[in-house]
Amino acid sequence: MSTEVTARTVPPYNHFTQIGDPVLRVRAEEVPPERLDSHEINDIVDQMVKVLRHYDCVGVAAPQLGVPLRIIVMEFREGKRAQFTAEDYEQRKMSPLPLSVFINPKIEIITDAQHTHPEGCMSVRGFSGQVARYDRVRVTGIGMLGTPSELELVGWSARIAQHEMDHLNGIIYVDRMDVSSFTCINWPQINASGGRAVIAFDK
Ligand SMILES: [Zn+2]
Repeated sequence: MSTEVTARTVPPYNHFTQIGDPVLRVRAEEVPPERLDSHEINDIVDQMVKVLRHYDCVGVAAPQLGVPLRIIVMEFREGKRAQFTAEDYEQRKMSPLPLSVFINPKIEIITDAQHTHPEGCMSVRGFSGQVARYDRVRVTGIGMLGTPSELELVGWSARIAQHEMDHLNGIIYVDRMDVSSFTCINWPQINASGGRAVIAFDK
């Protein structure tokens, strides 16, 4: 599958909707059984996978492409390890997660243990904040593209699942973060350029 995308001004978009867009604040609808195997749903899923890989991120929920339906895709490719220090990779309990696509997912928390780490979102571009998430969850739903219909996830993968599930309920990580930790990820660049930085959303 090509990861090249061209601009698209109707959903499913080739870009991420940004905080403030009402589609990110509604409870997304279940995909009804009669639409499960439709061209429409297959197209949305393909688009979600394409955008996930193009932007090199780890999760996409359909509302982020302007589609208020209960669909999530997740993937943590082996190659992403190089984007983190060994210390962060270990502390955040990151691990590879093969492509997983769920329609109408349910999430079950299976431990009380929580971890707090910096989290960002492609729908709040340029920022991050500290968010506590449960360490272990089970996700069930309708698997697509040959991916499983049940997954038990720990650490960072469990965080990804909780973050994407939140999107289906109109919740964004900024609702859950420690507000005092909210960070503009380009703040050093702003200082280094005397405040004249151009922060490009170049994809
Ligand atoms: Zn997000």
